[in-house]
Amino acid sequence: MPPMSEPAICSAKGCRATAAYAVVWNNPKIHPPEREKIWMACEEHCQWLADYLDVRGFLRRVDRL
Ligand SMILES: [Zn+2]
Repeated sequence: MPPMSEPAICSAKGCRATAAYAVVWNNPKIHPPEREKIWMACEEHCQWLADYLDVRGFLRRVDRL
């Protein structure tokens, strides 16, 4: 996780909005089960990113920052 003094920026391509959510995921084909990847997401892109991961079976959870 980035330090709190620096606001996280949305992970969506081309988006510079401050992130409001942490989208937590894991690709079981390449990541060990304990590994958690995190995409930061703004209000606008949270659902899009979560859906993208969910259809691939990678989505674990979405945390409000
Ligand atoms: Zn965004």
